[in-house]
Amino acid sequence: MQLNFNENFERMEKRYLFSEITARVAAYKSREGGSQKVISLGIGDVTLPIARCVANEMARAAEEMATREGFCGYGETRGLHELRGAISSRYKRLGAHLDEDEIFINDGSKSDLGNIFDIFGDIEALIPSPAYPVYLDACTMSGKRARILETSAKNGFLPSPEGLPKNPFLIFLCSPNNPTGATFSREELCEWVDFALCSGSLIIFDAAYEGFVRSEKIPRSIFEISGAKDCAIEVCSFSKNAGFTGIRCGWSVIPRSLSPVHELWSRRQATKFNGASYIAQRGAIAALSREGERESFLRTDYYLKNAKILAEALKEKEIWFVGGENSPYLWLKCPNGMKSWTFFDFLLEHAGIVGTPGVGFGEGGEGYFRFSSFASREDVLEAVVRFNKWL
Ligand code: PLP
Repeated sequence: MQLNFNENFERMEKRYLFSEITARVAAYKSREGGSQKVISLGIGDVTLPIARCVANEMARAAEEMATREGFCGYGETRGLHELRGAISSRYKRLGAHLDEDEIFINDGSKSDLGNIFDIFGDIEALIPSPAYPVYLDACTMSGKRARILETSAKNGFLPSPEGLPKNPFLIFLCSPNNPTGATFSREELCEWVDFALCSGSLIIFDAAYEGFVRSEKIPRSIFEISGAKDCAIEVCSFSKNAGFTGIRCGWSVIPRSLSPVHELWSRRQATKFNGASYIAQRGAIAALSREGERESFLRTDYYLKNAKILAEALKEKEIWFVGGENSPYLWLKCPNGMKSWTFFDFLLEHAGIVGTPGVGFGEGGEGYFRFSSFASREDVLEAVVRFNKWL
């Protein structure tokens, strides 16, 4: 082919982390021939089914589409008025006042996290390491500059603005964090908002796991922090709390006060996005109803209980970790100084357990490992029995 391709792709990892894990697990299974069941504490996909009220509403919406009166074609790019209203009310309950026209419905938060670079010119993104790989990959693909902010066990794997030059950055923050499970306190988030305000930076706050927060001390939204409406946007999702990973629906909040970010994003979406699925949005409205929220709470509680069981097992083994509370993830130091992939192979070969090597989330994750609590209770209990034998 005689075309020029985006050279930025050459600067990226050739193989996606989870493809490598899948390949190693497949090789193990073909060697072992199924002698013991492989337990997956690896991928961050939910395992419990969606709530009945959500399924019923989506079925009703599908039926509605089959009638002359109920059929609807393209909807508003920003999403259904009713859904944006329900999200705005949800923020009100958290003490944040955001109008529905500041809310943009998407087909899951990954799209907006990946696409946000479209509206910026030459900027420097501040990306913690380890982090959800999409931030750095999307930054690299779009040819923007990245400054990596290393975190470590010393600061509980929470990035801090201390010592940073007061340059205008596009700052990626995630709490509860994937992969580390670490959470920002109100004070820590205030420091970031203060830094963004005085440096002219913009925070992209990834709240995909807010549904796991149980402590009053941990903000579920950056908009709980005063001043955030002048320096932050928030990306959130129905994926992890309401089980929408396969349904696809989320949202971004871009306050009107953030000019021209709000206008440029509206313009970008008008050209490149045609709105989220009507049926998924109806399901999302049901997920935000009283019953839907109660069902989401039960599901996140189930995973949190799994996380607690795993946390107790690690404590017993005196293995250092963060997370596991207010988060579905645990981030542990690999025992005996093992590197991340060495521990991955050790755990798979001996215990038949799949986790995620920390180094897959950035160099800062080398020597660490992520366990996900998105698994059945039986599998988690069996995993603990196997830890006791092998760790
Ligand atoms: N943000 C974080 C930190 C995630 O871990 C994920 C998915 O695993 C997402 C965003 C994207 O989720 P979705 O596109 O399903 O909303």
